[in-house]
Amino acid sequence: MDRETTTVLENRALGKDHRMLVVKAQKLAMLSRPGQFAELSTDGATLLRKPISIAMASKEKGTLTFVFRMIGKGTEYLGALEPGSALDIIGPLGNGFDTCCKSALLVGGGVGTPPLLYLASQLRKEGKEVAVVLGARDKADLLLLDEFAKLGIEPLCATDNGSCGVKGTVVTALTEKAALDFETKLYACGPWPMLKALASFAEEKGVKLEVLLEAYMGCGMGICVGCTVPTTEGMKRVCKEGPAFNAKEILWNKIR
Ligand SMILES: Cc1cc2nc3c(=O)[nH]c(=O)nc-3n(C[C@H](O)[C@H](O)[C@H](O)COP(=O)(O)OP(=O)(O)OC[C@H]3O[C@@H](n4cnc5c(N)ncnc54)[C@H](O)[C@@H]3O)c2cc1C
Repeated sequence: MDRETTTVLENRALGKDHRMLVVKAQKLAMLSRPGQFAELSTDGATLLRKPISIAMASKEKGTLTFVFRMIGKGTEYLGALEPGSALDIIGPLGNGFDTCCKSALLVGGGVGTPPLLYLASQLRKEGKEVAVVLGARDKADLLLLDEFAKLGIEPLCATDNGSCGVKGTVVTALTEKAALDFETKLYACGPWPMLKALASFAEEKGVKLEVLLEAYMGCGMGICVGCTVPTTEGMKRVCKEGPAFNAKEILWNKIR
């Protein structure tokens, strides 16, 4: 973990209420791994820093990319930062994904999609076969299709209203279309009900599933214990022992 005063290089709209923020962060880019997150300062606009997943890191360019949905004061502050502004960032935080697998199927729901972009890029660098399934309410909410295309991946899409791809959830798409074998590992990030449904799906199919959890978080560094989740080994902190967990470890029936 480190702290860096980064410089905003780019801050642009993605769809109707998301932004993509790229910062020059030489030290943090070198340290980061897929599945980790960072605590972004809002310079007092909110009481606490904002935890945001690392959507991409380039060690060559020394950049970090974040993609977020503007839903409150913190993300509105971040979404309004002009290129050239300074942004104080603490990171990388959390454990990150375990990329050990033969082939991977990445499943993203809504704003859970960004960390899977970085994971897809890393898995490709490691020479692994990667497929992606993305779900959203509507076509306009599907994120990062162009960025996955740049990696040579065309995601299979599912929308609640059928405006793009399969009509239904990512589980509908997986059931109807995905070719799964027992050597494929599933990685997922998205809303809790989606992760819960996927955990049952993976259990039924006998495939491994690693989930990236997003919980309400205080400090983001393991001190306040505000983000714990029930696991087979007791309560664990999403910010420290997570945010990536083996789905079998999570006691899904005790959550929400
Ligand atoms: C490890 C981690 C990684 C994350 N990565 C991303 C990311 O890549 N992109 C992204 O858009 N968001 C991400 N989030 C969620 C993001 O941190 C919150 O949405 C953000 O804190 C909202 O800040 P705000 O001040 O704009 O809104 P707030 O005023 O804090 O919240 C606005 C509304 O959003 C809801 N909300 C706030 N935080 C969360 C949360 N953690 N989970 C569910 N609902 C919440 C609240 O119910 C509230 O009504 C991540 C969270 C965690 C813990």
